[in-house]
Amino acid sequence: MEPQLRRPTRRACERCGRVERWDADAATWRVATEDGEKQIGSPFCIHEWDINGRFAPFEEMV
Ligand SMILES: [Zn+2]
Repeated sequence: MEPQLRRPTRRACERCGRVERWDADAATWRVATEDGEKQIGSPFCIHEWDINGRFAPFEEMV
């Protein structure tokens, strides 16, 4: 059995459409570019990421 991937590599804001990708080298989220456009969304948005509740990146499996 393959273990479930618990660390997401992409997240999208359900409010403004911002999309970010995980940069493993820099260990940070970066704005994704899709179709040549940066998916910045709204800078004033309190982002509601679509991964909330489905992933717990730093959860420890017992
Ligand atoms: Zn947003």
